[in-house]
Amino acid sequence: MTKHPRKALIIGAGIAGPVTAILLKQAGIEAQVFEARPHSTGMGGGLQIAPNGMHVLAEAGVASELVRRGSVCQSIDFYSQSGAPLGSVNRNMAERFGQPAVSMRRAVLHEVLIDKAWSSSVELYFEKRLGRIEDRPDRPIVAHFTDGSSAEGDFLIGADGVHSAVREHVVPDGPKPFDTGLVGFGGFVPRALLEAAGAKPSLAMTFGQSGCFGYGYCSDERELSAMCWSTQPAHGIDAATFRAMDQAALRRHLRKYHADWHDPIPQLIDALEEIIVTATLDVATLPNWSRGRTLLIGDAAHATSPHAGQGASLALEDAFRLVCALRDEHEIRTAFQAFEHERRPRAERIVALARRNGNQKREFSRTGAWLRDRMIKVMMPFNARSWDWIYGYDARALSARPETSARRDRLAA
Ligand SMILES: Cc1cc2nc3c(=O)[nH]c(=O)nc-3n(C[C@H](O)[C@H](O)[C@H](O)COP(=O)(O)OP(=O)(O)OC[C@H]3O[C@@H](n4cnc5c(N)ncnc54)[C@H](O)[C@@H]3O)c2cc1C
Repeated sequence: MTKHPRKALIIGAGIAGPVTAILLKQAGIEAQVFEARPHSTGMGGGLQIAPNGMHVLAEAGVASELVRRGSVCQSIDFYSQSGAPLGSVNRNMAERFGQPAVSMRRAVLHEVLIDKAWSSSVELYFEKRLGRIEDRPDRPIVAHFTDGSSAEGDFLIGADGVHSAVREHVVPDGPKPFDTGLVGFGGFVPRALLEAAGAKPSLAMTFGQSGCFGYGYCSDERELSAMCWSTQPAHGIDAATFRAMDQAALRRHLRKYHADWHDPIPQLIDALEEIIVTATLDVATLPNWSRGRTLLIGDAAHATSPHAGQGASLALEDAFRLVCALRDEHEIRTAFQAFEHERRPRAERIVALARRNGNQKREFSRTGAWLRDRMIKVMMPFNARSWDWIYGYDARALSARPETSARRDRLAA
């Protein structure tokens, strides 16, 4: 049997990376995190972490801070393009699942995770872009960075997202990210606008004849504490082309696209602070998530289009379950296989669901959109609980072998 691994190299300080490092530290395993970006604040738009992800954030010791700095979402309410209510789901999440769904700025999530990693004595390095990995028998595994530096460890975790460089090592010539043909536009607006429109502490989602528009609170601060986003079929113009446009042109595009959509959508577009454009990417199923002493987690392993609102929560679940697998199994490759065996069915089921949801945002005929809206309205009461298997998953409740103080002492020794 190999000695228990002592040191992890983690590539990527997005969501899965820092949380894995914090949890590894708690389990007595050293972790160094390497991030390609410079250390910065204010990155990205808004997102929502569902109860299944919040359980892991609680375990990492940051859930209450994120509840305080974000906005607890009481429901998701659906509307037609003209504003007719179609139904509501995801009520009473905290009561039903032990954690609420929390909307927040991505920048706040990153800031809280990085601060927690630092205060947990995780070593974090920014502007370190992974170039290649060297995994030779009887030697430490080596991460080589594009600036010529390198780092050694007992194993390496690829938490480097949809464009993963680690994936190239694990599955050489494997699937690449592909554009699903939907473009996302998002940003922040003052909460006063939503308050004036009588918006509840929920997410509002409007399905149009083509595309959808969503909005909701993402912070309890006064300024720019509501988020909104538009998802549209690309119509031959990709995200890069939109990104090259100036803000005024993007605003004109959004105004035209959503011209006859219900209030307060046009007003929200006018008030958007800065419009962020995102491509909607997906990656085909990988044949394997690990190779030798390297494992992929989060979007690097199972990138999902954002239409199930679960990519971050899946990444968080991965972080927790990986640390459980490493606690339970001393041999790295066996631990990686056990992790993949456990996680793959759930991740792939959610990725497939997100793909199906994306289809609701494509182009419909007028009659097709009317029929879809009727279907949503009629089916909503029956479907209200159909996502319980996603939200009701508590990664902590699955520990195959509960941690004993003797085992914890042995790992720390
Ligand atoms: C528009 C949009 C909205 C979304 N909304 C939601 C939502 O509401 N709820 C939800 O759960 N999910 C949402 N998602 C999905 C979610 O953002 C991802 O699933 C999640 O960020 C995955 O986390 P991760 O840690 O695996 O990867 P990431 O968060 O992408 O982090 C990867 C990190 O690795 C770094 N990196 C990349 N390459 C290298 C390299 N070579 N060397 C070093 N570092 C590298 C990157 O800079 C990045 O910081 C959304 C996605 C999009 C695009």
